[in-house]
Amino acid sequence: MNKKNQISFYESVSRNFDKAALHSNLDKGLLAQIKACNAVYHITFPAKIGDEYVVIEAYRVQHSHHRQPTKGGIRYSMEVNQEEVMALASLMTYKCAIVDVPFGGAKGGVKINPFILKPEEIERITRRYTLELIKKNFIGPGIDVPAPDFGTSSREMAWIYDTYMTFRGGELDGIACVTGKPVSQFGIRGRTEATGRGVYYGIREFCDELPEMKALKMDRGVAGKTMVIQGLGNVGSYTGTICQEEGDVKVIGVSEYEGSIYDPKGISVTELLKHRKETGSILNFKGAKNLPDRMSALELECDILVPAALENQVTMQNARKIKAKMIAEAANGPVSSDAEELLLKKGVAIIPDMYLNAGGVTVSYFEWLKNLSHMRFGRIEKRFDQQAYGNLVSMVENLTGKYIGQREKNLLVKGADEIDLVRSGLEETMVSSLQQILEIKRSKNKISDLRTAAFVCALDKIASDYSNLGVFP
Ligand code: NAD
Repeated sequence: MNKKNQISFYESVSRNFDKAALHSNLDKGLLAQIKACNAVYHITFPAKIGDEYVVIEAYRVQHSHHRQPTKGGIRYSMEVNQEEVMALASLMTYKCAIVDVPFGGAKGGVKINPFILKPEEIERITRRYTLELIKKNFIGPGIDVPAPDFGTSSREMAWIYDTYMTFRGGELDGIACVTGKPVSQFGIRGRTEATGRGVYYGIREFCDELPEMKALKMDRGVAGKTMVIQGLGNVGSYTGTICQEEGDVKVIGVSEYEGSIYDPKGISVTELLKHRKETGSILNFKGAKNLPDRMSALELECDILVPAALENQVTMQNARKIKAKMIAEAANGPVSSDAEELLLKKGVAIIPDMYLNAGGVTVSYFEWLKNLSHMRFGRIEKRFDQQAYGNLVSMVENLTGKYIGQREKNLLVKGADEIDLVRSGLEETMVSSLQQILEIKRSKNKISDLRTAAFVCALDKIASDYSNLGVFP
């Protein structure tokens, strides 16, 4: 099957929605309203790139206004098109519902290749795009709040924030107009790693579920499991390093734009990132074998395949060759819906994007709350807690007559910093959301896959929001 015959990302999301809708007893009109994109803004504007003026195409889609503000990342890629942004925006709505983040879904896209443009060109385009959003009231702390996605990072978020404040100076809560900002510019500690860390918590929790592991004929627990990662950008690199450092996972294959590598003895993701920085490529990494091309790593035999690059990476073209027992969707839409049907029949478990990569929006929500409260998390209680824990430790020492060493004491009396609270909130979110999805999967005997269960979870919560609004009682 050639790429032309492949079903689009948008079509995949639509088919997955319809499959889940069969398991819900919601009104047809309400389901149609939940599925529809509420607002699509398509912009073109000129930009000077090198010595030439080019027309830049850009989008912002607000998928659902049932909760406001709407929220979702901004993607810079040559693949950006209206349907792609609509699909990504709708996934944001379902994602927010699953992890109980009170936003509607949105997404932005600018059709540029950020990997070949100069920083000053990207800055000009980012500021102009922001201006277009301001002009049409498509950005603001209570309206629509962007964040990083493929091809963007905290740097672009700082430019967006600065442009917004230039035009809306004096707006008290203006700093909450965008999340994923640098910590020095009202960002929150732990946002950069959040999506990858959330992916780790999700995989770890799933691997701790005995019935799911039995079905896959695997041992319980994440430690020792083999993993292949596609894409070593923000999400893929943090997923890899955290899975290795905290979960004792063995990464045996990695794929990047320039190719893919394999080492059954294990690849240190931290070392590989250094190697790529020095040489510009993951290829020729010590001890590892270069594979024929960047798609080859996806076909390696492993326990967990983590696509962390773009959508439509596992399709009918390669699904039969996939040998992984589980696919952990760190990227949005990496498995097409027809390939998923084939893989499910083969017994492969797929942890769906709309749950697994929700760590980013969860911590973005914490950043938004921090910005609205104008105060760092932990500022008020940290010293009080430390004092109280210190009193407790002294009391134990007095009662037992035993002295607790200074190192242990320091650990026991430590009050929570912002990063501790962010990680704790993220872990709680990922653990409790997986339990909700599994409960739906186990209680409705016709649902056999996690994506349908996750969709049903989202649909129920969004329907309840509509009924609270008095629409669709
Ligand atoms: P990124 O731009 O930081 O990294 C993407 C990486 O993938 C790059 O290193 C790129 O070279 C590589 N890549 C591109 N095409 C590839 C291919 N065909 N094979 C192998 N590698 C390839 O992007 P990111 O922010 O890490 O986003 C990755 C995915 O995760 C996207 O689907 C995005 O929507 C999703 N996501 C990101 C966030 C976030 O917080 N950044 C949150 C949720 C979901």
